Amino acid sequence: MTPTDTPHGPLVDAHAQLAEAIEHLGADDGTHRLLATSRREMAVSVPLRRDDGTTAVYEGFRVQHNFSRGPAKGGLRYSTHVDFDEVRALAMWMTWKCALVNLPYGGAKGGVAIEPLDHSTAELERVTRRYTSEILPIIGPEIDIPAPDIGTDEQTMAWIMDTYSASVGHTVPGVVTGKPISLGGSLGRATATSRGVAHIALKAMALRGIDPEGATAAVQGFGKVGRGAARFLADAGVRVQAVSDVGGAVWAEQGLDIQRLGDHVDQTGSVDGFEGGGPVGGAEQIDPASIVTLDVDVLVPAAVESVITVDNAERVQAKIIVEGANGPTTAGADAILADSDVLIVPDILANAGGVIVSYFEWAQANQAYQWTEREVKDRLEERLTAAWHDVVEYAEAHSMSYRQAATALAVRRVIEAHELRGLYP
Ligand code: GLU
Repeated sequence: MTPTDTPHGPLVDAHAQLAEAIEHLGADDGTHRLLATSRREMAVSVPLRRDDGTTAVYEGFRVQHNFSRGPAKGGLRYSTHVDFDEVRALAMWMTWKCALVNLPYGGAKGGVAIEPLDHSTAELERVTRRYTSEILPIIGPEIDIPAPDIGTDEQTMAWIMDTYSASVGHTVPGVVTGKPISLGGSLGRATATSRGVAHIALKAMALRGIDPEGATAAVQGFGKVGRGAARFLADAGVRVQAVSDVGGAVWAEQGLDIQRLGDHVDQTGSVDGFEGGGPVGGAEQIDPASIVTLDVDVLVPAAVESVITVDNAERVQAKIIVEGANGPTTAGADAILADSDVLIVPDILANAGGVIVSYFEWAQANQAYQWTEREVKDRLEERLTAAWHDVVEYAEAHSMSYRQAATALAVRRVIEAHELRGLYP
């Protein structure tokens, strides 16, 4: 049968991955149903008084997929693409991600269907505070701990922390992670996801016998994840030949000067129009859609889900795909790539650096004690390396893809916790 992406969507893919893991583990139907369903879901409407005095109303969601291993954990996304099913899928993936890297958390995700770029800072503050007050009964440092995701940042987390703290009557730094450092944020959190992506990319290159010095990469997305990943890869000697974002894409044979590209993005808001320069020479504008099919050693999709699909999977030329984004490869594309030599390092491993340092931030908030940046970096690499070895060994032992191995390991850990706790009543 030809792999297909219809019916399409991240939740369909997440369910298919879970079903495969359940079958492999020989778990029963009841357990399957339990894990296929979110433990708690909340849909809220978020009214906003706009700066011009009119009222807008946005849909908001918070989904807590699982609590078996601890409080639910996961980001908050502001994007017009947000819908209930997307948030459900992302929450389920958070459960697997946290279990895979052995964090004492379940999984959650939140979203508001809003385009942040179309709103002033004051409007974003009002939306964030109103959304927080709507979901307030179901969040807390021992219940569910939000963090940044697409369209949100440390300022968003500061507003959530303040709104929550005002409501309970005292300052609660552990209610969110990804906070500004001056409010108890962890050193190293801002770059944690991208540091982890690069760390895992280098492991995958070593496994495939690719010397980073002179290897080539393409990075899709130049935001919280892609920008740092490009920088860390370039620091390791990789020629990052192409980078794209929503505004465009640029390419340079000798590799882009990531520092200069960053400066250009800070000035103009996009990689579009970057002309290169410096020791590595000029850059060309390319079609952003072509980024996933470029002839490079490593492809890092670090933007949104469902970008490697049945329509382009056969044209992927990269030897390694390191999933910086959540869910960038559809199940249909995964099936096509399974027949190729492309090594896919799945999102729940590749981008777990962010939630790992979120956990460190939460632990520091609970201890009221700040770790040094060195401690954070070392412990991040230690956890990621352990998870990497777990996945590689499991995949080899069971002749599975890394995604199948990572999901099976994670699902097994969640089932173990669930069985030890038993069902109440
Ligand atoms: N949004 C990030 C993710 O998808 C981080 C979540 C967190 O730190 O809780 O992994």
